[in-house]
Amino acid sequence: MTDVSDQATEFEELRRDAALASRKPSGPPPCGECHFCEAELSDPSARWCDADCRDGWEKRQRAYAQRPIR
Ligand SMILES: [Zn+2]
Repeated sequence: MTDVSDQATEFEELRRDAALASRKPSGPPPCGECHFCEAELSDPSARWCDADCRDGWEKRQRAYAQRPIR
């Protein structure tokens, strides 16, 4: 059974997948603050202040990923 809400959900998922695929790097959704230094961002769709913060965040994520799990 397919109704309008099923179609809408499917479409939303496709669109979200496309948006994620086109964005680099993958990471957390925008939250109004820089994910690296937690500064407030004026652009609600931004996730970092600038490329430096994005690079710093990526390095930190990599460091976390390599951390041994106890
Ligand atoms: Zn920042």
